[in-house]
Amino acid sequence: MINIPKGTKDVLPELSYKWRFIENAARETAEIFNINEVRTPVFEHTELFLRGVGETTDVVNKEMYTFEDKGGRSITLKPEGTAGVVRMFIENGLASTPMPLKTFYITPCFRYERPQAGRLREFHQFGVEVFGAKSAETDAEIIFAASTFLNKLGVSKTELQINSIGCRICRAEYNKALKDYFRPHLGKMCATCRARFDKNPLRMLDCKEEDCKKITANAPKILDYLCGDCKTHFEKVKRLLTAQGVKYVVNPRIVRGLDYYTKTVFEFISTDIGAQGAVCAGGRYDNLVEELGGAALPAIGFAAGIERLLLLMENTGASFPAAQKPLIYVAGMDDITRAKAFEIVAELRLNGINAEADLMERSVKAQFKYADKSGAHYVAVIGGNELAANTVNIKNMADGTQTAVNLNEIYSYLKKEKK
Ligand code: ATP
Ligand code: MG
Repeated sequence: MINIPKGTKDVLPELSYKWRFIENAARETAEIFNINEVRTPVFEHTELFLRGVGETTDVVNKEMYTFEDKGGRSITLKPEGTAGVVRMFIENGLASTPMPLKTFYITPCFRYERPQAGRLREFHQFGVEVFGAKSAETDAEIIFAASTFLNKLGVSKTELQINSIGCRICRAEYNKALKDYFRPHLGKMCATCRARFDKNPLRMLDCKEEDCKKITANAPKILDYLCGDCKTHFEKVKRLLTAQGVKYVVNPRIVRGLDYYTKTVFEFISTDIGAQGAVCAGGRYDNLVEELGGAALPAIGFAAGIERLLLLMENTGASFPAAQKPLIYVAGMDDITRAKAFEIVAELRLNGINAEADLMERSVKAQFKYADKSGAHYVAVIGGNELAANTVNIKNMADGTQTAVNLNEIYSYLKKEKK
């Protein structure tokens, strides 16, 4: 017996309806915001993530599934969705299509992490990436799309936290202030923080070590260092969110786990699933397209973790639509009536009805038992008498009532009943 790899999960047939519900909500959200689906490979050249995600991030430092393929290339399973979409955008010259370009994806992601509730090695993201628009309206629209998606799922108890981490101009000032602040404390900070001090001091604010967290608590706040443009942008985003009825709190400590962010960053946090509370997160990344070799074009996006949303929905008793069940099970008794049952079921399926007949060569009694277990709404048993009279009793399994229906009119009967 070979077991499933650590940190991965199967979606069992009786639970897949929950996945479908979440994915449908994602697609419906994308549709009303006029966002088109894109699909990129599960693996890319490692270089893309080194440059795209950032060499000082945990993702690149510790979490990537990287291997050499048989042709000697360094390949990495995608740890997140943005870098691949940006590569696609550049490689296909999409900058010359009408802007903004709004895209979404539902994709597996891979990170070599310590598995725990809400933290897996293979997980799935619904992500949105919008290219070409630098306006504050875009930020507000993207956050509104994320919140629309969460509302569709009925997860209302999340808190939206937003921050601005500025642009290259204000970041330079801020990094200087951070370094001045951290310099005298460096000796007491972890090795990762010490390495980040030179390369990317902003990252130090993201450290999860207790000693480092105590020190970072009093660090200068980026919001005090924003340049005029970034400040105006952030104020406008906040005004627009309020106008759209989206509630938020400003959390000046959000810096996000990936290096490419600029200006607006945000997280939807839940307190109902333990430590891994971020169910959806994103932000603006105005330099990434250019850094990966494309035009200097602004962009913004978010990604929501599907497993975490599922966990949150299950923990808070959110309701899912019912799992799929046969509308009718048609049982037969012998070769002739079984053949008739198959004929009826085939006809119903042609009309788009979820109908079932026996594939297991079961007795009528056993067929009936199976039909009941499978949750069929109606059961019809065709015997010799039924065939001779050309009518069958259709039993409503919910209330036990039976209705005599002409064998050729089962579809119209079900259609009437479904209304
Ligand atoms: P965290 O701080 O929880 O590690 P992150 O900053 O690494 O999150 P992002 O890279 O922003 O996460 O990914 C977006 C979303 O994907 C997260 O908000 C979360 O819902 C989900 N996610 C990230 N890593 C995992 C994982 N290992 N397992 C399951 N879901 C994940
Ligand atoms: Mg992480």
